[in-house]
Order: sequence, then C-alpha cells, then structure tokens
Amino acid sequence: MKTLYSLVNDILEKDGAAVEKVDDSLMEVILPDSLSKTLNLPEYLVFAFNDKSAELADQVITYDSDIINGLADVVNKRGAFSQWTTPDLYLKTDKVEEILQKKLILNNATYRLNGFEEKVVSYLVLNYKYTAISDEKKENLVSIVVNELTLSTLDDFTNRINLFDKRSEAEEFSTLNTDERLSIRNILYAGNRCIKSRIKRELYDFEKSMNRRLQRDINRLESYYSLLKKEVEKKIAKKGLIGEEKERELLRKKAIDVEHKKKILDQIDKYSIKIECELISALRIVIPSVVLKVVVYRKKENKGVLLCWNPVLKELEKISCESCFYHSSSHFVCNSLHILCPDCYIRCSSCKKWTCRVCDPEKCIRCGLPLFPL
Ligand SMILES: [Zn+2]
Ligand SMILES: [Zn+2]
Ligand SMILES: [Zn+2]
Repeated sequence: MKTLYSLVNDILEKDGAAVEKVDDSLMEVILPDSLSKTLNLPEYLVFAFNDKSAELADQVITYDSDIINGLADVVNKRGAFSQWTTPDLYLKTDKVEEILQKKLILNNATYRLNGFEEKVVSYLVLNYKYTAISDEKKENLVSIVVNELTLSTLDDFTNRINLFDKRSEAEEFSTLNTDERLSIRNILYAGNRCIKSRIKRELYDFEKSMNRRLQRDINRLESYYSLLKKEVEKKIAKKGLIGEEKERELLRKKAIDVEHKKKILDQIDKYSIKIECELISALRIVIPSVVLKVVVYRKKENKGVLLCWNPVLKELEKISCESCFYHSSSHFVCNSLHILCPDCYIRCSSCKKWTCRVCDPEKCIRCGLPLFPL
C-alpha cells in the first residue's frame, strides 16, 4: 500500500516536478510551469503531510486537500486504466507437484495435478480508496490484484514489477489470447468481494476501539439513568405517595426509561461505522506464467481448477475463496464443490451441520436458519 506521501511524490515526479524529501512528513517541490498553472500553485513550495510539520510548510496535504483533487484530475487526464507488459521472466517448471502440495491445502477434499503449461497471463490491479466514518474518520488506498484467468486474488505486487526493466513497456505478447481472460464482470466481482474482506480485516482494531468506546458510553448512561430512576423510587417510598401523585412519579420514571433507550440508540449510531469505497483506477499487467491444471475431488464429484506460478512473486498463487475471494492458507470444499476459506464454510449454530456461503450466503443450507451477516 502506498502512503499519501509516496503517492504525491510519484504523481509529481511523473509530471516533471523536482521533488526533494526533507523528512517523512515534509517535501520540497519545484513544479514545472504547466503543473503550477493546473494546480494553481507557485513553482516552489513545501508540502507537509501531518499537522506537526504544518508550520514549516506552505501547504498541509490530506486526502481531502484541494491539491489531491487537482492531482486526481492530472492523473485522470492520463487515463484511469493502463497496461504494462513484463519482459521475459524465469519460469519454474521443475518440482511443480511438490510446490502444489505445499501451497494447496484442502481440509476435506483431495486433488491431483493434471498437467501444466506455460502461458501468458494477465492481472488486473484494482486501486480502491475507502473511507470509514464513525466517531473518527479513517481512510486508506488499497490495491487488490486479480488474476484474470483463475480469479486468484493477490496483495499488490506492482512495487516488485517496478524493479523490472521497463524497456518492454510498449511490447505486447503476441501469444496473449483474450479468450482466456474471464469476463470483466467476474473480475470486478472478485475484486469488490475481496476489498470488502480486506477492509474488514484492516478495520478490525478500529471497530474494536469504536465498540470499546460505545460500551464505555453505554455503561455511563446506565449508571446515570439508573440513579435517576432510583431517586424517583426513593421519593415514592419516602413520601409514601399514593394515587395520582404516585402515578405522576411512575410516569416520570417511564419517561426517564424512554430517554435512556433513545440515548443508547444515539450512541450506537455515533459509533457505527459507515464505509464508502470507490474504485479509482486499474492497471493490467501481462506476464508469462506456468498454469497448473488441478482436479479437486469431493465424495463422488470432481471439478477442474487452475492455479498459476507467479514469476514476479516467485511462488504459486493461493486459490481464492469462492465466497469472499480472500486468499487464506487452507480451504474447505462443500458438497457442490465450492472452494471456501474457513470463514465462509461454517458450522451452523443451530443444527451444527456445515454450511456453504456460496450455496446460500444468508441461510444455513441444512436447516434454513439465518447465518450471522458477513
Ligand atoms: Zn471466504
Ligand atoms: Zn457451496
Ligand atoms: Zn443449520
């Protein structure tokens, strides 16, 4: 994942600016005439990336700054999609079976390798920006890479691609057969499902902290309102109230109860996390690969799956869960042969039988009872 600092650095350098790093949060910049006019900024200036360094800089940059919107326009003019082809890479074709056994772990199914071939494979790098809004705001840029032949999802490897010689940037592999690419709808579906699980994982601590604060505030409300209610009860007992007077106090107690419940709902709303996520750009990377054909067996059924040995990562790509499209280290196979991560192949809490999130994302496939939402 790129930091805001390195993102701004890359965009400015690509557009001809001279960028000098002062420290991790300060950047000295000389803009070319065209960029200075587009962004409406002087030719020489200093950017700060946090409030602490603000005094030393001309501008503080956050994701919401006008400069970021200006830079987004600069990038948009270049196009939101580009393609890059790697030069020939070393392909590993020995010990393929051994590598497969280490990497493909199916807890309740067997498989066998049914051959492999060298092929040119394309990947779509999907760059998302998400904002999580609660009592605090958190935002991040995340890249998800989807193998367009197998739908395996990978963490970003574009930083490693940059290490390769870029001379072949304009080259096209004549052997690339686009028929072998899955439809863009499938690829985006996989990317969008994967980003959802990725954000959930990234926000784990954020969510925990919001829940902790919510619980703290609910406890405070609890002690405040129970004190108020006790005072009403004491008043009734102390003064020995009866009839209309007692009724009036009991109504007051009821009103305190209603206000208490309303305040709890307000707090839940305050700490609930609203997430906005948007796909901002895409890059297709085309690389030669070794494609392994694997047959998965479960009970009397079987199905073929493809896995790629990735020469940039120098490893066999993990298979993705067919429900959340996240790549875990081991998988389960349901009776309809969906391949699932341990979070998506679950034991139903009421009938205790195993159920699959692809066969039914919301209900247990055995007893029909609703599952906890993902
Ligand atoms: Zn899953
Ligand atoms: Zn299934
Ligand atoms: Zn069930």
